[in-house]
Amino acid sequence: MVKGLVADIQRTSLHDGDGIRTTVFLKGCPLSCLWCHNPECISFEKEIMEYPEKCIGCGKCSEGCYSGAKVVCGKEMTAQEVFEQIILDKPYFADNGGVTVSGGEPMAQKEFAGELIELCKKNNINCAMETSLIYFDEEIFKKLDFVMADLKIWNDDLHKKYTGVSNKIIKENFESLNSLRIPIIARTPIIPDIDQELDKISEFLKTLENVKEYELLPYHPLGIAKQKALKKDITEFEIPSAEYMKELKKYAFIRRQTKLDAQNKDKTYH
Ligand code: SF4
Ligand code: SF4
Repeated sequence: MVKGLVADIQRTSLHDGDGIRTTVFLKGCPLSCLWCHNPECISFEKEIMEYPEKCIGCGKCSEGCYSGAKVVCGKEMTAQEVFEQIILDKPYFADNGGVTVSGGEPMAQKEFAGELIELCKKNNINCAMETSLIYFDEEIFKKLDFVMADLKIWNDDLHKKYTGVSNKIIKENFESLNSLRIPIIARTPIIPDIDQELDKISEFLKTLENVKEYELLPYHPLGIAKQKALKKDITEFEIPSAEYMKELKKYAFIRRQTKLDAQNKDKTYH
């Protein structure tokens, strides 16, 4: 079994898809969104996150820090080892909960992600993925119960400027994923400073019949403390007001059969 580099396993998550879920965050992402709230998941290497305010000056750094002032992010694990943790949570999943494979970009470790999904599905555990859709793999995606995928900015030049990559392949992958007939929850993190052209994104998503929901997720600055701990450059954006989110509500939708309903949810973005 291949080993994956796991950033975290979060239990009883209510924000990473339907029901109560266990979310597995994998390290590594080819994007570098300036607002990323999981910046510890961008690098494909283990990293040390430093919180000097927690240092008690014990001088035992070489033995490992027990006060939380230096935290290693990234643990090599096999899919079986991760699964053994997930299976403990199965009683809490009930009818609609399960596992969400997230990151970073989980498909950047696609062999590991594929093995983990295979193990979960064999044990009747509902499986979802949070992905930037920069990669597409039919064999892996068609095993999933649903996919949460972002289309962050419509204009390609702006997409490159703020995420580091073109969105052309992401749009194509939305179309390929739609053809697999797996429910898709599309999402856009709302960054008021950027002209994201939500009208165009929303119109595009409405042409894809398996996009069941389009969620607008307000930017929040949760990633900044982690960016500081990683000694990364920090870019702060304006936090969208409740009024602004309400104004944008017309672009979001829930599709049930042929009906499109406006909606706006308070969730975190990938
Ligand atoms: S082990 Fe942790 S608390 Fe002790 S000196 Fe090192 S960083 Fe500070
Ligand atoms: S795609 Fe997600 S994990 Fe990757 S940099 Fe963007 S926000 Fe962060």
